[in-house]
Amino acid sequence: MEKKIDIKGLGLKEVEEKLTREEFSSFRARQIFHWLYQQKVSSFQEMSNLPKNLLSWLDFVFTIEQMKCIKVQKSLDGSEKYLFQLNDGQLIESVLIRNKKRNTICISSQVGCLWNCLFCASGKGGFKRNLSTGEIIEQVLAVQRLTREIIHNIVFMGMGEPFNNYDNIMKSIQIINSKQGINIGARKITVSTCGIIPGIVKLTGYPMQIELSVSLHSADEKTRSALMPVNNKYPLKELINACRNYARKKNRQVTFEYLMLKGINDSLEQANKLSHLIMDFDAKVNLIIYNPIDNQTNLLPSDEQAIYIFQRVLKENHIPVTIRYSKGQDINAACGQLRNGYIDIPDDL
Ligand code: SF4
Repeated sequence: MEKKIDIKGLGLKEVEEKLTREEFSSFRARQIFHWLYQQKVSSFQEMSNLPKNLLSWLDFVFTIEQMKCIKVQKSLDGSEKYLFQLNDGQLIESVLIRNKKRNTICISSQVGCLWNCLFCASGKGGFKRNLSTGEIIEQVLAVQRLTREIIHNIVFMGMGEPFNNYDNIMKSIQIINSKQGINIGARKITVSTCGIIPGIVKLTGYPMQIELSVSLHSADEKTRSALMPVNNKYPLKELINACRNYARKKNRQVTFEYLMLKGINDSLEQANKLSHLIMDFDAKVNLIIYNPIDNQTNLLPSDEQAIYIFQRVLKENHIPVTIRYSKGQDINAACGQLRNGYIDIPDDL
């Protein structure tokens, strides 16, 4: 017998095609989507308006995979971090950020990560595997089931590099965006990359207005390569060219994330370099206050004054800039920290 497929990995058209091939009516696909994404059922048997023979076939061919939530950490600022266990035992994290009555979920795209950025906990454990389309979507559904709250925004900023799992990410975005699916607008969905140029190029040609965010963290090749090994493969100069092209062709603003690290990337010189690098296209900068990874690096957050001066230089160059106080500092909300805690101390389970 063939292995059952997680039905959440399929788009509406694919479900319709599979139904008609088995001589069921294609309109049943919309009913199935309603049960999956609005009612958030965990079994086909709960789909009470479907005929019995269809329910038996669905049960025979598909599963509705659900992740097990094995830990929730609640921050004083309202953020919640979830540690989910996948069906093969791997662990991933998702974070719910509550802000001015808007809820944002930060979701993971891979188990672990290839890139080993110096400041990031996710890269420390190495890369394990890509998440399937169903596992990506399931993070949103699981948080909705746990909190019973409306989700307004999705950001692909959790564990992993989304563009290294491009096909599954884009398919999950289609289902998240679809009216019959989770129904979240494309402009409410942000893909954040460490600078995978082929992914930015593909997104530039993709017919959806998804938000692009790029982790920059330095305005010179040498410092960036030291912080982010990905820069050796996709150098800053070419990365900025790809971002400029994206901004102009899509007529969209690119957001650059810039982690403020004391004595490393927070000088006046770096602020001026950054301004010159991005001033000729529609870009904005989020200066992020660093949330140190416990005992793992010597990196420190920048002083308040250095952040203020850096921000002023960007403003003087007419670059929109905000300072982001990272949410969930008290719950280790930097990506990968909760999972790593579990991997390091398995007895804690
Ligand atoms: S910051 Fe992103 S790309 Fe870098 S190691 Fe962490 S998850 Fe990977």
